[in-house]
Amino acid sequence: MNSCNEQDIYSSVFHSALVAIGITDVEGNYVIVNPTWCKLMGWSEEEAKKLNIRDLTPLEDQKTSAESFENLITNKVNSMRKQRRYKRKDGSIFWADLYCSTLYNDEGKVMGVLGIFVDIDKQIIGEQVQKELYRNLETLNMELSSTNEDLKRLARYDSLTGLFNRRVMEELLTKESSRAFRTHRGFGVAIADIDDFKKVNDTYGHDCGDIILIEIANIFQKNIRLTDSVGRWGGEEFLFILTETTAEGAYIAMDRIRKAVAAEIFDYRQNPIEITLTIGLSFHHGDPSSKEIVNQADQALYRGKKNGKNQLVNYYNDVSASYITEDNPTT
Ligand code: GH3
Ligand code: MG
Ligand code: MG
Repeated sequence: MNSCNEQDIYSSVFHSALVAIGITDVEGNYVIVNPTWCKLMGWSEEEAKKLNIRDLTPLEDQKTSAESFENLITNKVNSMRKQRRYKRKDGSIFWADLYCSTLYNDEGKVMGVLGIFVDIDKQIIGEQVQKELYRNLETLNMELSSTNEDLKRLARYDSLTGLFNRRVMEELLTKESSRAFRTHRGFGVAIADIDDFKKVNDTYGHDCGDIILIEIANIFQKNIRLTDSVGRWGGEEFLFILTETTAEGAYIAMDRIRKAVAAEIFDYRQNPIEITLTIGLSFHHGDPSSKEIVNQADQALYRGKKNGKNQLVNYYNDVSASYITEDNPTT
């Protein structure tokens, strides 16, 4: 090796280092800084010697910076690494990755702090952008899943009455049929059709008709059990599925619903309106297909309309036997 001594090597490392190096005394006043430090911070070497660590620290970070410095000079720790913000001469602020360590004199007394740092502003900003992006994605995701919920709800419920729509009722019928077939426990199906509803629309207008449909749907929901389901089957026709009951039980339940609607005086712009229902009921033990079940309830409904409306007709008691004799006399 040539004449290069240790001091020269230290000095060369200090001056040519690509990282910023600054040394302060125990008060935090800068004693020496290297050229990279000057380039990064905007102060000359001479100017730096008039600065304190506080002058380089943004206002909101003063407290944490002072605490860290205190820990080093009181020997609580003798080195630390942290990401912190620095303020340049022009006031701009950047993030730095800082390594600092306590400096001791020959007697082992603390004489200052050595700080070495690199600018990581781009990296930090990149991370912040990424976090923001994730937050936006999360919000988007939440919005999407709530839209999805809305769509699912729309697909299952009738938009006017809030009852299940026909598709859901068809699904429930199929499900109930196979359950009844498996368990040999029957279930009732009823179709309720509003009597002379066309007259209501013609007299008071379509809006009145809509309001009455909503109110009737509410009466239905109040009067069915948790194990029963009701849906809008068509314009002013409603389908009921009654489970966990007997044929008699289903009859009693549907008659209670018919009477509840008949007892209500609907009010439309101070016009009292009375509404009645005709209901066809059928009860099954899982043998007929769901189409056939509805068909039988429909036949019972038709019979009720023919017999003067505002009544509940049971397919097995009132239709099936007479169906053979009246409508099919040859059998
Ligand atoms: P019936 O006693 O024989 O059932 O007589 P009806 O007048 O009720 O006759 P029908 O059941 O054939 O007619 C249904 C009427 O219900 C026709 C239509 O004006 C009305 N309607 C069906 N859907 C709606 C609806 O969503 N809103 C309103 N306001 N009226 C409806
Ligand atoms: Mg109808
Ligand atoms: Mg009707």
